[in-house]
Amino acid sequence: MKKLIAGNWKMNGSLAANDALVRAVVKGMAESTCQVAVCVPAPYFEQVQMLKAGSRLELGAQDVSQHAEGAYTGEVSAAMLREFGVRYAIVGHSERRQYHAETDALVAEKAKAALAQGITPIVCVGETLAEREAGKTEDVVKRQLAAVIHANGHCISEIVVAYEPVWAIGTGRTATPDQAQQVHAVLRAQLKAATPQFDRMQILYGGSMNAGNAATLLACPDIDGGLVGGASLKAADFLQIIAAAR
Ligand code: PEP
Repeated sequence: MKKLIAGNWKMNGSLAANDALVRAVVKGMAESTCQVAVCVPAPYFEQVQMLKAGSRLELGAQDVSQHAEGAYTGEVSAAMLREFGVRYAIVGHSERRQYHAETDALVAEKAKAALAQGITPIVCVGETLAEREAGKTEDVVKRQLAAVIHANGHCISEIVVAYEPVWAIGTGRTATPDQAQQVHAVLRAQLKAATPQFDRMQILYGGSMNAGNAATLLACPDIDGGLVGGASLKAADFLQIIAAAR
């Protein structure tokens, strides 16, 4: 299976910075064979769509509304994403769960809304430090993924899963390859019970992945790529991660 390296720019970027970053990524990824995406703030969809034209770089969103259309001020629908060539939408990022009180059920609805428009949801799951220390890691990630499996039925094979331990996001503290692989194996087993296509589904690791640690994480049997925050804003670092994924 091809690996997927997806950058999550979060609320970063400017027309000038994006121009330089995307041009450098497009140029530098020419030799790689893995799948590459950048999940950018919505106002930049059109800019990045034009910058990536003719390359293998895919465009992603960082969120999507669970609603199809209507009186939902500030929301962006999956159909709108599709009009700009968006291929992926992150759903359930821990920053959305934490700062916007997104529940497991809401995340599942968002995944469904994306799938209905042919957009691949990158469903984030992950435990907080307190949950890990209380020995609840497996329970938490299984509960989060179960909601998405339950709401999406046989379409579940079309999603991408990202394991992002909350304590590793933006902290410089990465899960060890063993810690990550252990959780990825749990998620794979859960997918196996849900769909015969479980072994062609990508499970990404996210949480302070960088140029130095990417290769060992990506060498784990159940780690099929990375969701990369901070390091996706620097072309040289992002390209080293892409090279590590081949
Ligand atoms: C993320 O935001 O999905 C993430 C993994 O961030 P960072 O790589 O900066 O930890």
